[in-house]
Amino acid sequence: MTRYAILGHPISHSLSPLIHNTAFELLGLDCRYETVDVEPDDLKEKIAELALGEYGGFNVTIPHKETILPFLGKLEKEAKTLGAVNTVVRRDTTWTGYNTDVYGFRSCIEGYKDRMRGTEVLVLGAGGAARAVVYALLGTVQPKGTTILNRTVDRAEDLAAVFGTMTGPGCLRAEALFQEDLQSLVDRSGTIINATSVGMKPYTDASPLEEIKFGKHHLVIDLIYTPGETTLMKAARTAGATAVGGFGMLLHQAAKSFSLWTGKEMPLETVRQKVEEALKGQS
Ligand code: NAP
Repeated sequence: MTRYAILGHPISHSLSPLIHNTAFELLGLDCRYETVDVEPDDLKEKIAELALGEYGGFNVTIPHKETILPFLGKLEKEAKTLGAVNTVVRRDTTWTGYNTDVYGFRSCIEGYKDRMRGTEVLVLGAGGAARAVVYALLGTVQPKGTTILNRTVDRAEDLAAVFGTMTGPGCLRAEALFQEDLQSLVDRSGTIINATSVGMKPYTDASPLEEIKFGKHHLVIDLIYTPGETTLMKAARTAGATAVGGFGMLLHQAAKSFSLWTGKEMPLETVRQKVEEALKGQS
């Protein structure tokens, strides 16, 4: 049996085991996917331990997507550009890092690209997920302008500096998330993407944009997938805006990781149905 895993902290919220184990079962593969809770200081040791086991690869999530880089033998081009990895593949004795979040986000916005093109976009957050979002946005949509808003403004500035050359001068900006002008920034934007972890289970009452009013013209994408509808999405939907959750992105990034590991295509629609049914059964 070949084993796979997701390494993160916290990790109990992850739907990845359900997605991958459903796909393994559907395709009759002798593989198993598990969660491994790894504290930041234990990451190096854990990766060395996985190398001794029957692991074909693993995913990494919060907070390891950037800190894992020095422990990998090779990086695929996109992961190197992003400086963030979410998928690791074992090739003989080498761990190779990939970033399938970019593919996942691109797939998630496929139906909204025309609407986003030429508008102002706000990206909330400057962590690993925000990196993938900004890179995918600038590479595929080319918004009129993109503003990265982060609690720690230095991180937003670093991100804007890394990807500034992918767009016109002054088109990629960095600002503080918590600021007085937030409502007018939101009013002037067409798309708002939450790539912070604010609102994620168990803190589901929280929103990165508390007390902000949305309009019908807004497209609000929340990368969070637990809960299926976040407080941010609910506020947007109630105001008549379009609200999209992170489940679609999650499925697509998982499908890409799956094919990197197994060389096979994940039966996406069947997996989606089965995972949705399983989640309904849990609620
Ligand atoms: P990360 O690297 O740890 O970054 C977390 C981000 O959230 C940082 O920008 C951080 O700001 C911000 N943040 C955390 N707590 C905050 C608070 N109380 N107030 C304001 N900002 C706060 O995590 P990540 O990997 O980028 O993931 C971010 C989110 O995206 C998670 O919820 C994750 O589940 C989701 N995600 C979803 C998918 C999907 O497939 N749907 C894929 C990837 C990630 P500071 O810089 O100030 O700390």
